Parts: sequence; structure tokens; C-alpha cells
Amino acid sequence: MELQKGWTGPMRVLVTGGTGLVGRAIERVVREEGGGREGEQWTFLSSKDADLTNAAETRAVFEKHRPTHVIHLAAMVGGLFRNMRENLDFWRNNIHINDNVLQTAHETGVVKVVSCLSTCIFPDKTTYPIDETMIHNGPPHNSNFGYSYAKRMIDVQNRAYFQQHGRRFTAVIPTNVFGPYDNFNIEDGHVLPGLIHKAYIAQKEGSPLQVWGSGTPRRQFIYSLDLARLFLWVLREYDEIDPIILSVGEEDEVSIKEAAECIVDALGFKGQVVFDTSKADGQFKKTASNAKLRRYLPKFVFTPFSQAVKETCDWFAANYDTARK
Ligand code: NAP
Ligand code: GDP
Repeated sequence: MELQKGWTGPMRVLVTGGTGLVGRAIERVVREEGGGREGEQWTFLSSKDADLTNAAETRAVFEKHRPTHVIHLAAMVGGLFRNMRENLDFWRNNIHINDNVLQTAHETGVVKVVSCLSTCIFPDKTTYPIDETMIHNGPPHNSNFGYSYAKRMIDVQNRAYFQQHGRRFTAVIPTNVFGPYDNFNIEDGHVLPGLIHKAYIAQKEGSPLQVWGSGTPRRQFIYSLDLARLFLWVLREYDEIDPIILSVGEEDEVSIKEAAECIVDALGFKGQVVFDTSKADGQFKKTASNAKLRRYLPKFVFTPFSQAVKETCDWFAANYDTARK
């Protein structure tokens, strides 16, 4: 099997954001599940190796590792409530990181870059299910417009690098990701790590679990290890510039209430669950179609949601002292 069209040598893969939720999952699949191949070099970067908002540091780290391929994950990332507070920082940090990484990849002759968009950058007012053609069809939800517009520009840049320079830079579009090494900070993180952390504390203290908002919004969640396996397929096989949604099916979308119940079951939490409707619900739903993914990979099997939640809860409890929180 050809590794990548037009590329037959061993790959040197640089993973930006290699110490985050998705980066750690890719590292595990590469190192422990046979996702890597003989002769390949994989480097997983943290912000300590280079601050990618800084062009000179970005250039230096690319010159040091001389990647042939880049998985670009590094970003300022947060849940609904951090996005609502820090739209300007989400916009500026992510614009700088993305422009530095993509332009340096271009200047240093990287063969392929796979960047990361998100289903939360799609238009707020839309028809469902959302598909890959709809990214730029209207304003994003007001809660995260800084992050969304910055991410949308990756797609603009990818198309422009191809048009002007023939570069094969592409992007994936995951839904809400969760798993080991997530950011379990209650104020800043996403809903599942936030609820897992809150349930863990509530269980210890014998207090109620506070779910924020009404519990009615709906989300498709993807386990970080499933996403990592799909990322490797995209890196090796997917040859389009246009992005691809990486998501469980529409039928696997769950409400926030159902997600909270799954965490309650996984932790064996016996206390009361209450909904704080003074807190925001955010976008009601962002139901995405995985039809394009299914055309390429009809047989890919996603980890059942309850099993993935259980594994994540177990990881958090076992790594409580060192987990990001
Ligand atoms: P994460 O856990 O917060 O990790 C972020 C990573 O980016 C870390 O490795 C961090 O390094 C690095 N980073 C942040 N700022 C940096 C900077 N200025 N310079 C260099 N590195 C920097 O994020 P994640 O959830 O894995 O997200 C990975 C990608 O998936 C992102 O592009 C995100 O937008 C996208 N995505 C995430 C979700 C989700 O639900 N989490 C959903 C859709 C798409 P340190 O460890 O050194 O801080
Ligand atoms: P989103 O999927 O991009 O909107 O971001 P989140 O992962 O932060 O999910 C936000 C949804 O979960 C909203 O409907 C929130 O009201 C709800 N939610 C319930 N409890 C929590 C919590 O503890 N933290 C977060 N971030 N969201 C919560």
C-alpha cells in the first residue's frame, strides 16, 4: 500500500499539540497499537518545545525536526463557557498558530499537513445534518465566534496553498472529543470532562451533581482513541484538500442529560443530579453527517459511548493527581 500519493519514503511526522487530548491518543495508537510503521519518525510537540504563536520559534522547531508530514493539533481549546469569556484570545492565538504552522510547513517543503477544524464552527442557522460543504454558509453561534472564524480560515488557507503552490494541506472536522488526558478543568473544559470532575467531587463530598444548562442540547461525542485511529487513516490515505467530518452517526447523538446519566452510571454516583438553568445551553445541536467518512470507511467501528465514558472515568480516577484540572 502506498503511504501517501506522491510520497514513498519513510515519513517524519511532526504532531503539533502532541501533549493534548488528541495528541496523546495519537501517540498511544502509534506506539502501542501498531499505528506507526518501521522507519517512521514521530515527534509529539508541546508548547514548551515551541510557542507556535511565535513565527521564529515555529521556524526553529520545523528546522530541528525537518518533518515530511504534519498533524496540526495545537490550538487554544476550551468548552462553551471559556469560549464565551475569551473570544478575542481564541481568535488571535489560533490565527497566529495556524498561519505560522501552515506557512512554515509550506516554506520547508512539508508534503502533507492534516489540521483540525471542529463541528462547532459551522453556521448557527443551518439545515441538518451538517456536511463538509456548509462551513462558510453563515455566521457561527455567537458563543464561540472567535474560535470558529479562526478555524474556518484553515480551510481557506488549505485551498489557497493548493491553488497557488499545489500543496496538499487538508483538515479533519471532529465533533466534541473526550478521553484520557482531556482538560478536566471545570470552568474551562468541555462538558464530559467537566461533568466527570464534578461528579467525582460530588461523590466524595456527598453533594448533588450540578449539570449546567437545561440538559436538552444534543451532541455527537467522539472518543479520542477512535479519532486517533481515523487521523492515521487520513494522514496515510485521504487525498482530498476538502475537509472530512470525523463523527459517529446521527443516530448516536445524545442529550447532555443522557451524557450525564452515562457518567453517573460509570462512576456509580448515588447522589442527586440537578440542572442549573441559569447557565447557558450554547448551540442546541450541531448534528453532523458522517456519510463522507462512511463512503471511504464503511466498516470502521466506533467504541460504544458508555464504554468510552467508563474508560475515561477510570483514567481520571486513576490519574487524579496529575490530570489537567
Ligand atoms: P488540548 O488537549 O487543549 O491540547 C492542546 C495542545 O496544543 C497541547 O499540546 C498544547 O501544548 C498545545 N498548544 C496550545 N497552545 C500552544 C502554543 N501557543 N504553542 C504550541 N502549542 C500549543 O486540545 P485537544 O482537545 O487535544 O485539541 C486538539 C485539536 O482538536 C485542536 O486543534 C482543537 O481545536 C481540535 N478539536 C478539539 C475538540 C475537543 O472537543 N477537544 C473538538 C473538535 C476539534 P501544552 O500541553 O504544552 O499546553
Ligand atoms: P460545545 O459542545 O462546543 O457547546 O461545548 P461543551 O463541551 O462545553 O458543551 C456545552 C454543553 O454542555 C452546553 O449545553 C452546556 O450547558 C452543557 N454543560 C452541562 N454541564 C456542563 C459543564 O460542567 N461544563 C461544560 N463545559 N458544559 C456543560
